[in-house]
Amino acid sequence: MESLDQAEKVDLLARGRVSTRQPQIQVSTLALASNRGQVHRMHEDPGTSELRWVQFDLTQMPRIPHDNLKQYVSTWWQQHRETYKLPDFNDLYPMPVAERHLSSELVSLSFGQRREGRIVKDAFVDFVFRKVGDNVLTLREVVNQTTNRPVNSAATLLDWTQVKQRLAITGASLLTTEDLWLIPDNEDESLAKARRFTFRYDQQRFSWTFAGDEGEVVEAYEHRLTMRDQVRARVFERSYLDDNPWSEPLAFAELLGSGSTGVMSADGLVPAGLWPSQVRLTSDRAKVYEGEASQPKLLSLEEKQGRAWLVNPSDHDSALNAYTSIQRINRFTRRFLTDDDTPFLSRSVEVRVNMEGECNAYYTTGTARITLYEAGGGCANLAMINDVIYHEWGHGLDDHTGRQPGVQDGAFSEGIADVVAAYYTGDPEIGRGFVQDAEYGIRSLENDRFYPADIGQVHREGGIIGGAFWDLRQALMERYGELEGQEKAGHLFFRHLLTADTYHDSYQAVLRLDDDDGNPATLSPNYCLINEIFAKRGLADPEYCQDQAARSYESTAIDEDLFLALADTGETHTGLVASSAYATDMVICKGRRKVCLSGEAPRVHMERVTGTADRRFFTYSGSFSLKPLDLVTIIAKNENDRLIGSRVVKIVSK
Ligand SMILES: [Zn+2]
Repeated sequence: MESLDQAEKVDLLARGRVSTRQPQIQVSTLALASNRGQVHRMHEDPGTSELRWVQFDLTQMPRIPHDNLKQYVSTWWQQHRETYKLPDFNDLYPMPVAERHLSSELVSLSFGQRREGRIVKDAFVDFVFRKVGDNVLTLREVVNQTTNRPVNSAATLLDWTQVKQRLAITGASLLTTEDLWLIPDNEDESLAKARRFTFRYDQQRFSWTFAGDEGEVVEAYEHRLTMRDQVRARVFERSYLDDNPWSEPLAFAELLGSGSTGVMSADGLVPAGLWPSQVRLTSDRAKVYEGEASQPKLLSLEEKQGRAWLVNPSDHDSALNAYTSIQRINRFTRRFLTDDDTPFLSRSVEVRVNMEGECNAYYTTGTARITLYEAGGGCANLAMINDVIYHEWGHGLDDHTGRQPGVQDGAFSEGIADVVAAYYTGDPEIGRGFVQDAEYGIRSLENDRFYPADIGQVHREGGIIGGAFWDLRQALMERYGELEGQEKAGHLFFRHLLTADTYHDSYQAVLRLDDDDGNPATLSPNYCLINEIFAKRGLADPEYCQDQAARSYESTAIDEDLFLALADTGETHTGLVASSAYATDMVICKGRRKVCLSGEAPRVHMERVTGTADRRFFTYSGSFSLKPLDLVTIIAKNENDRLIGSRVVKIVSK
């Protein structure tokens, strides 16, 4: 018996799992005369004459109550066993998901096959039924890939010692062995024995299936492709004052493994095939350095636990906290701005933590560098306070937005930086814990500052515009509800930065964005509210009016049961998967809509694919053109084509 060399092993593993099902159903037998006219069409295996596929004329088929399906299947099988050369029904076993709902009309029952107690590899039979009434079905078709051929028990198979020799490996530990029957290609041959070995080797799990005493490889695969490994770190949700650090994936960080490197996904998933031992805190959004170090921080990974590697389980490292804070605030901002709006979102911000000094943090314009001081002088380590990091990153955003690049107005920049932090945390108190162990912050956006009384020192003056945007968020939440209000405030704030260089530009810029018909001659939906808020700050003349149009945003209550996921994201097109507990029909429409008729807007009709007892799934596998910040409305209907729920979701790039 020869050992496989490395190249052969790589080739075999690259094939992955192999199904040996042969498309043998070229011959079609019309058998209308038999079976009292029930059979519409029948396909047999040309070599063995075994039944492969039979379809029925539904008008001739009996109606079966749902509860009797299994009994019906068994009786049908016994009756046709001889005619169709079917194997023993007692050798069939229900598949793990035995009953599947293929559509609102089709139900499938699936069985696998055993022979002498061993599974026949890739053998199955599907009974497909059509619903013809409440809990009443008829048999539509049977797909049969079981076999009636004799078995050949004589073969000798490799044992574990021989397998290790064949694979030229040492140090592998055997997890399970399973004996299988293989259906050979040649119709004259009986079923052959094979044995599948599942083992752990080099910290991975493999399954290899061999046949015969020479160890012919039937199939080889590693289990890793189905695992979603992450690299996570313990960091703070808000600051070192948190009771417990939480664990968060290190999105986009660089991974170093034995002989290879890779980059983590937005969800912190490890690329397939990489076994990382170290992580470097660098990405195209942030690179974090310890003090004046010349390279971004490199950290070792602890031994893997479950599906995740953890960095530094005991030490709440300030560099990790800074890194995840930047990823988080960048991702949040992407709900409102895209890469095309500002290059800053894809700029790698240089963050220096534990710098010598005390009680300060600052952003350096142009170089996009954030400097965070170590603890001292009564102040905490500023890399341990996420508000401070969001604030400094907000200066960076200001540095890269507006009609002119750069920070044009120091007070506006302080206001922007505080609003970025407060909109993310939902707390007007900025920098809680800045003073070591203090629960209070260093500023609050719940303030009474107004223009021109409070001009002067930049942080104080920044409170004028910061306070205005905090009030705006509160008022919009009151008007539209918590989620939609926050979303509207975020939209107005972040997008107004694109045209504003000083806070004296803000009022007009916000009104322009609130305009829903493009015509300044008609008041925008929140015109009076925005006027009131800016007038209170001395930034607009008060008009004492009342908004009329606010109701126009009232939409169907959000249906929390509707979910949409994107698949196969290409450059400009996206596949869709949606689910609901009750819907029987689903339509996705571009934009915020109450109804979605064909021809009205870009729209796709989802196809119902499958489901479980409590969840139904729909897909659209063509491509639907979606860009970041596009809104889409999911519309769910019942069997009577009545709207039962809708939900507006926004497309963001992580
Ligand atoms: Zn600042």
